[in-house]
Amino acid sequence: MTLPETNEIILQGISGSPGICIGKAYLVDKGGVDVVEQYHIEKSSIQNEVNRYKTAVNKAKAELQKIMEDTPDELKGHAHILETHIALLNDKMLYGKTIESIEKEQINAEWALKKVVSIVKPMFENMSDAYLRERADDIVQISDRVMKNLIGADRVDISDIDKRVILIARDLSPAETSQIQLESVKGFVTNRGGKASHTSIIARTLEIPAVLGVEKATATIRTDDIIIVDGTTGEVVVNPSEQTLIDAEERKARYEARKAVITRKSNLPAITTDGVKLRIMGNIELPEEVVSVMHYGGDGIGLYRTEFQYLSRPDFPGEDFLFEKYQDVVQVMGDKPVTIRTLDINGDKALAYNNDTEEENPALGQRGIRYCLRKPEIFKTQLRAILRAAVFGTVRVMFPMISSVEEVLEARKLLEAAKTSLKKDAIPYKDDIQVGIMVEVPSAVVTADLIAKEVDFFSIGTNDLIQYALAIDRTNRDVAHLYHPLHPAIIRMIKHVCDVARKAGIKTFMCGEMAGDPINIPILLGLGLDELSMNPQSIPAAKAMIRALDSQQVKPFIDDMLRRNTAAGIVKLINDTYGKLITETVYNE
Ligand code: PEP
Ligand code: MG
Repeated sequence: MTLPETNEIILQGISGSPGICIGKAYLVDKGGVDVVEQYHIEKSSIQNEVNRYKTAVNKAKAELQKIMEDTPDELKGHAHILETHIALLNDKMLYGKTIESIEKEQINAEWALKKVVSIVKPMFENMSDAYLRERADDIVQISDRVMKNLIGADRVDISDIDKRVILIARDLSPAETSQIQLESVKGFVTNRGGKASHTSIIARTLEIPAVLGVEKATATIRTDDIIIVDGTTGEVVVNPSEQTLIDAEERKARYEARKAVITRKSNLPAITTDGVKLRIMGNIELPEEVVSVMHYGGDGIGLYRTEFQYLSRPDFPGEDFLFEKYQDVVQVMGDKPVTIRTLDINGDKALAYNNDTEEENPALGQRGIRYCLRKPEIFKTQLRAILRAAVFGTVRVMFPMISSVEEVLEARKLLEAAKTSLKKDAIPYKDDIQVGIMVEVPSAVVTADLIAKEVDFFSIGTNDLIQYALAIDRTNRDVAHLYHPLHPAIIRMIKHVCDVARKAGIKTFMCGEMAGDPINIPILLGLGLDELSMNPQSIPAAKAMIRALDSQQVKPFIDDMLRRNTAAGIVKLINDTYGKLITETVYNE
């Protein structure tokens, strides 16, 4: 087959979900909402215009409600974001100000909405808390929806797409992503979004390649364009040349064959050639995801992010509800450890029922354990549920965002109080449960020797540790190039935590994204991590890497690495020393 000459365009984005797909593009939100009509209205038309706006908002609410009802059960946990969207539709800033603008400035609803969004969006974007900053995208998504209702543009229903395409959208909300039918969508590319967004979490759960943060995607790519999406490298090629297509097909075939081969072997233990064993565990957000961890040969759950059970409902969950969610996972995993992290929310708006805190800088505010210690009743409910579920398997409890010994002591005190209350109520629970902390705040690294005396294990949360240590927002596309797990500061912190823990006789785990990247495995093995936890899809490659390494040979490499003074220098050293092995083990047949 000879293809016509093409003008190949390469767009670089952020890797959202690994894998390669090749196919026809399908632009889902042209919408035309960027070019809205702007005109002044007569005083006598104000009420009509306000009503027109209200109708468009109500229609948007009904649409969201419908999506919520149609969301498949296994993705229901992610549908909480829809509630946020519905709440934002009623938000004074957006709803009230648009109406005020129509009335005071006597302008049409589209113009008023556009004006208000242009004020509100940067307000969210400039917030320092990652969660709130992501709400800027929600503002855009819901205002797009209202705008489309106002101008009567049709919204493409993703669940109706009936040919195998690659979706191109300015943004896909988690709700929309959850509508994706795997038999009709090969992958997707969005202008917005970052690695830590819910959208990429769902894409990884669905195992479809995704590239996010391609600023010009919708402006460059047209429906029916042939495109290549490399979710692993974050590269998108539009109108590829014949040679590029052939190369991509080969890479895709290699990737898939390799994935199948590694997955077939993923039930083998992760033991180095000289007999050192590491446990490779899975991170989950929802109980259903435990199936993937088993499928990919995970040795347990290293991080069960429990906040999703709080975000996907209108009020705080009760003890029995939580107990069932934990019990489900614990029973499936049998005697394999399940590490349940206690509630790690911040003062965010997604908890519609938790609006008692307005913070200037929520990333440095009442996040994680700080929130729970301020709300002992909510914390105790969760701790009781965890202690009850622990009866059914091997459960560890882990506290997030610990920044001092006092917090550990206080949290442990509440854990003991939860036990006492269960005993008093004659409800079965497990008493000797392992207690650990996430090491993700620099002060916890520096005082690791003090904290080690109070806990059974450490789990390094590199997603936040990098954010707080390097002062780099983990979801900000503009500083993504500085967000480097191999920065010497991060390597030194990890080394320090491992050394201190070894001396204190406790284990060190890692559950941040860094643990799941094969390039980091020689370093993590060499620094002495005992357990790595990752997205379930990443487990087979991590295990294969461990099996290919010799722990003694890693030692001189680590000494050499500790002398490097830049992240780039460390990357070069890894490539020089292990590049061939990584390629052969993970990427080649
Ligand atoms: C981390 O911070 O590295 C982590 C694993 O937790 P989360 O990504 O949920 O903040
Ligand atoms: Mg964290």
